[in-house]
Amino acid sequence: MADDYQMPKGELMRGKRGVVTGVANHQSIAWGIAAQLAAQGAEMAFLHLPAMERRVGPLAESIGVKTLAAVDVTDEASMDAAFAAVGEAFGGEIDFFVHSIAFANKDELKGSFVDNTSRESFLRAMDISVFSFVDCARRAAAMMPNGGSILTLTYLGAERAIPNYNTMGVAKAALESAVRYAARDLGPRGIRVNAISAGAMRTLSLAGISGGRGMLAQGRAMSALGEDTSMEGVAGAALWLLSDLGRSTTGEVAHVDAGFHIMGLAADSEG
Ligand code: NAD
Repeated sequence: MADDYQMPKGELMRGKRGVVTGVANHQSIAWGIAAQLAAQGAEMAFLHLPAMERRVGPLAESIGVKTLAAVDVTDEASMDAAFAAVGEAFGGEIDFFVHSIAFANKDELKGSFVDNTSRESFLRAMDISVFSFVDCARRAAAMMPNGGSILTLTYLGAERAIPNYNTMGVAKAALESAVRYAARDLGPRGIRVNAISAGAMRTLSLAGISGGRGMLAQGRAMSALGEDTSMEGVAGAALWLLSDLGRSTTGEVAHVDAGFHIMGLAADSEG
């Protein structure tokens, strides 16, 4: 199943061990990243939502991932158990951590942000999509005595008002800020912290956003390259940031969106 994508093979991650969260199925961005890391020799553990076990198991097996642990990031006991499993698998030391987790109530990912946002859903989105990153970064950093690299995923809706993205956009803005604060705190320990701002991609998360198909189509039409964001492109950027190639980069939000973020109007609006 790793062959769904053409991930360049090599040795850039040989000898490195780490954790990938957020694999739900073969369309997950975390899966593309994991496939690339495996093709470069990384040893990994997957932390997945309990409900995803049946789908994640065969994917993990196909790229030689032996350690899988269920985690619900809103549950402290589940986080303790998952990180204990990682510690046990890797002798308490890891080199990288991929946070690829987000959630917002589907009913609120449409229409008016001002009118449709409830306290409960807002706090839940912030808990799962932002606090979980801070919590994971603290726990992962404790297992990085020799430095390391932490990566999360964000979207342009953090910087611009995108239709229907609403609470998730506000959460992503907080996530990007959290990346900078974590990078400052962990820098002296040799731990780099970065985010990839990916263009719209056809995943379960996108399906939860009203008009998700429109986000894909407009992302393509409004991109400098005139094409969709590719899994290979996002995974390649993850490889850069997670391997020693990214050794001088931290606190960065790298846009990997076929040039969507630089555009003001779609190219065909010139004529
Ligand atoms: P996805 O649905 O495959 O991944 C989201 C993951 O979050 C799932 O694996 C899900 O199990 C996990 N998750 C949700 N709640 C959780 C919880 N309580 N505990 C543990 N795990 C939980 O979709 P994706 O598009 O691959 O999303 C991954 C990341 O990429 C998200 O942060 C998303 O916002 C971001 N992103 C997605 C796009 C896109 O267009 N798909 C673009 C930019 C950024």
